[in-house]
Amino acid sequence: MQILKTIEEVRAWRRNLPKEDKLALIPTMGNLHTGHLSLVYAAQKHARYSIVSIFVNGLQFGEGEDFSSYPRTFGDDCDKLHAAGVDAVFHPDEKELYPHGFASVQIDPPPIQNELCGAFRPGHFRGVTTIVCKLFNIIQPEIACFGMKDYQQLHIIRQMITDLNFSIKVISVEIARAGDGLALSSRNGYLSESERLEAPQLVLHLQKLCDAVLSGNCDFAALSRQMADLLEARGWKVDYVEIRDADTLASVDKYTTKIVALVAARIGTTRLIDNLTINLPD
Ligand code: AMP
Repeated sequence: MQILKTIEEVRAWRRNLPKEDKLALIPTMGNLHTGHLSLVYAAQKHARYSIVSIFVNGLQFGEGEDFSSYPRTFGDDCDKLHAAGVDAVFHPDEKELYPHGFASVQIDPPPIQNELCGAFRPGHFRGVTTIVCKLFNIIQPEIACFGMKDYQQLHIIRQMITDLNFSIKVISVEIARAGDGLALSSRNGYLSESERLEAPQLVLHLQKLCDAVLSGNCDFAALSRQMADLLEARGWKVDYVEIRDADTLASVDKYTTKIVALVAARIGTTRLIDNLTINLPD
């Protein structure tokens, strides 16, 4: 497995790959878990070569967020990726990707960037699209893999690929969960023992909400409010619970066939996100 630190090294490595073979990129911030590895395995199904980027992108963190405390475990990450058969890791430092600092040209996503998580993390998705666009330009993959855990991110990246005419196929990967249902996340490591026991309530409540929809309850606003109230009563601080059209992320309308229920909430100081998608009953 090649460990590449500079853009020049990536380009030289890329140039030497056989032209007829595809390359899949899996962008990550490191501290890899089984969820990240499921992206790697999906990549390997679709492409002969895979490259994982590991970069904690300061541009997508807001003031007071966990940029400096974000877990950086490069050695362990490389062991996991090597064992998984990844061909290369791109692990640049900040100067390599942002030679002019964050006062750089950036990619501004459409207004959906200010909804859902974006309403609570101003500028977050601009940071995400900017770094992903840079990685696409540097690595030039045919395929890029993203997790459905970050549903809004996936949606915005798909739109960026269309709008900026990248010739890249997106592979989206189901959420990998712990045995008790909690979506795997690098941020789960912040949870205390008691918070970790409480954390699966997020998906349990989402499941209840989806069950209510499946049994015919279409009052999405009331269902969302009710779920937020129940979580708050258990000690969570809820950013949002929302039901949206799963394909467009717009509000549900008469053309919606599939919905996504999304939640972001804080337990203690840890902010967790999750979502479930279901087909609407006829
Ligand atoms: P991150 O390192 O948190 O930036 O995540 C890198 C990629 O892994 C993103 O595409 C995430 O959506 C994906 N990912 C993170 N956690 C999970 C999970 N539990 N299941 C599936 N994909 C995930």
